[in-house]
Amino acid sequence: MRQTGKRRGGRALVVTLAVLVWLLLTAAVIMLIDARHVRFYVYGDENLTVEYGTDFTDPGVYAVTEGSLFGEGKEQLPVQTWGAVDTRRLGSYVLRYTARYAFADYSVERYVTVVDTTPPVIELKKTEGYTPTWMTGYAEEGYTAFDAVDGNLTDKVESLRLGDRIRYSVTDSEGNSTSVERVLVSQNFAPPEITVLGEQNMTMQAGLWFQDPGAAVSDSLGTDLTPYLVTEGYVIPWFAGDYQIEYSITNELGESVSAVRTVKVLPVELPAERKPEEKTIYLSFDDGPSPYTARLLDVLDRYGAKATFFVTAQDPRYYDQIGRAYRAGHAIGVHTTSHDYNKIYSSEQAFFEDFFSMEEIIQQQTGSYTRLFRFPGGSSNTVSRFNPGIMSRLCRAMNDMGYQYYDWNVYSGDAGETTKTEQIIKNIKEGCAQHKYAVVLQHDIKDYSVAAVEEVLKWGQSSGYSFKALQLDSPAAHHGLNN
Ligand code: ZN
Repeated sequence: MRQTGKRRGGRALVVTLAVLVWLLLTAAVIMLIDARHVRFYVYGDENLTVEYGTDFTDPGVYAVTEGSLFGEGKEQLPVQTWGAVDTRRLGSYVLRYTARYAFADYSVERYVTVVDTTPPVIELKKTEGYTPTWMTGYAEEGYTAFDAVDGNLTDKVESLRLGDRIRYSVTDSEGNSTSVERVLVSQNFAPPEITVLGEQNMTMQAGLWFQDPGAAVSDSLGTDLTPYLVTEGYVIPWFAGDYQIEYSITNELGESVSAVRTVKVLPVELPAERKPEEKTIYLSFDDGPSPYTARLLDVLDRYGAKATFFVTAQDPRYYDQIGRAYRAGHAIGVHTTSHDYNKIYSSEQAFFEDFFSMEEIIQQQTGSYTRLFRFPGGSSNTVSRFNPGIMSRLCRAMNDMGYQYYDWNVYSGDAGETTKTEQIIKNIKEGCAQHKYAVVLQHDIKDYSVAAVEEVLKWGQSSGYSFKALQLDSPAAHHGLNN
């Protein structure tokens, strides 16, 4: 019984095991034919690009079973994710998702690239109350540049001035560029206008003085910039000609604004020389007045003769003789105040200064200025050669200013050659005999020369000469210039 029961029980077990084996084999065959495996569904794009520094959330995947006979299983499998993405580091990352099914591992990968496409940020600083101007130009108020990846890029910023704006640009290490502009208040930079004071185009007659009325300039904000004006060019008032004076101002950028004044210096007209019809002797006396001038004037009066006095200021005690001579109908001309060659021929300025102080004395004595003069040493002198060309320049200047200079064609010899009155008379007579118009040089500071005059007058008048005072249109007996 126990054995039978035992046998019966053993058979059932065998049958059960056989069924189980069969079932298992059947299932294995079905699975083999069904080719069951794991299928992944990837959320989002398979390959992702994320911006540097942003929060990255893995969209993940889900995994299910799938086969050819039984299709997709309802079963969602647990997924393990391998790898991580650090958005603080540029580069490519791999995320690997795995799932285990039927003793096998399945996996899928996702590529994630961390990139930097964000340009740096430039911030412009502004200074409260700062006002740039044309003169000062714009002084940079400052800026900063910051990039998420590269950090401080301020040193890499390039700025470019574009008229009334400044463009600042910077590029980060990934090639991302940014630029911002600063707009400057353009009217502050308007170039100043120079105002030429007085007449912009002046015309004047040649003379001793030219006073430049100057110019003024202020910027668009009304700031007076006149102290920064630079004046170039000049006017030589005693030389006729066309002159230009340029006023300019230059700012710190090297930009300039300028204005020009023209000055036309016209020559003062001198009358054309007019030769008298009759034989004429122009007696002329230099270097006085002196103690002998009064006696000389008496003699001339007695003979009704006129003469010319080229006066100096050597002896103020006799200034009144200038007035007396003038009122008696004689001509008065300038011979300089000092008669000091080294002084008067050292420069035009020195000459004119000396010359015009004599004019003042003449004006005080006679009531009017003169336009006649004689150079100390004559226009042909060589004592002035220490200043080359001075005589040529002075002759031209004096003529431009309307002064006539007179030399002589008869020399009495009273300035050192002789002290004998008889010789002086002889010299004058012989000299005059050779000229229809004689301009005779004597010195009324020499008594022995003054003593010759009466004899000369007698001789001249009996020989048909007139004795006249020089006038602007008289023969000037110019010498040739030697300097
Ligand atoms: Zn002299």
